[in-house]
Amino acid sequence: MQHKLPDDLVQPFQIDPYQLRGQLVRLGPLLDEILTRHAYPEPVAQMLGEAIALAAALARALKYDGVFSLQTKGDGPIGMMVADVTTQGAVRGYAQVNEEKLARAIAAADSTGVALNGSVPRLLGAGFLAFTVDQGEHTDRYQGIVELQGASLAHCVHHYFRQSEQVEAGLKVAVARVPDADGTPRWRGGSLMIERLPSEDVLNRDEEDEGWRRAVILMSSTTSQELVDPLMTPEALLFRLFHEDGVRAYPPRPLAAKCRCSRERVETMLRALDAEDVEYMKVDGRILVTCEFCSAVYPFAEEDVRALR
Ligand SMILES: [Zn+2]
Repeated sequence: MQHKLPDDLVQPFQIDPYQLRGQLVRLGPLLDEILTRHAYPEPVAQMLGEAIALAAALARALKYDGVFSLQTKGDGPIGMMVADVTTQGAVRGYAQVNEEKLARAIAAADSTGVALNGSVPRLLGAGFLAFTVDQGEHTDRYQGIVELQGASLAHCVHHYFRQSEQVEAGLKVAVARVPDADGTPRWRGGSLMIERLPSEDVLNRDEEDEGWRRAVILMSSTTSQELVDPLMTPEALLFRLFHEDGVRAYPPRPLAAKCRCSRERVETMLRALDAEDVEYMKVDGRILVTCEFCSAVYPFAEEDVRALR
């Protein structure tokens, strides 16, 4: 009998001598469910997959219960993209696609032979990347925004860390369709992030600098294949990369594809709208609100709408 390997998780780790911590993310059924449900064209699914894999690694910014979200807005074929992750490990995401721009980008890629998948300039265009940390009504909502600068989404996130947080970080992400045991291609994804912790130890600064450079080189040696390999456990990958450096792995945190929408939330949203806008949403006297993340439909009959007022 074949054992099912652990999947859909974040594996936190630390390398004490180098003063660094990191997250290794491994996404299987979760990612396939989100990307397949929307039936996105391949380059869009690939890009949203990367956003989700990166958001899962970056969600460690949450200190209390809350939601971490990564959002892009641009003038390219993917006009908007959101990926969010809660402290409990609920993951969701969606992308807004301009079909016309996408068709043009695909045609251009076909004629020039320049790859479209994963390209920020070709798929997202000029725009912004935003990170939001929302930890409930009693804490400050934190948002960081940078211009979309970089060839890939990982480059853009790296740019953000350098510019806005002044944190040294290293990132790697991969998303691909990998055949499962039955030979059916399934979306899989993975990401690896390392981050240098502030150090008070002035005497060992040189040694730590050296260690950091070494860790970045080792991290860069991870292949996309390894990050999406269903047979490569997180422990095995961390061991392969950092075993000589005394890597310490913490218990993995499970992740699942789970939306946070509810009828209650939709009601709150409708209540906040002007009567005129609500009227405009009516089709044959009723309103159907579809969740962009999970496609759940919330119907509101005439009397339901009136009851909200
Ligand atoms: Zn939903």
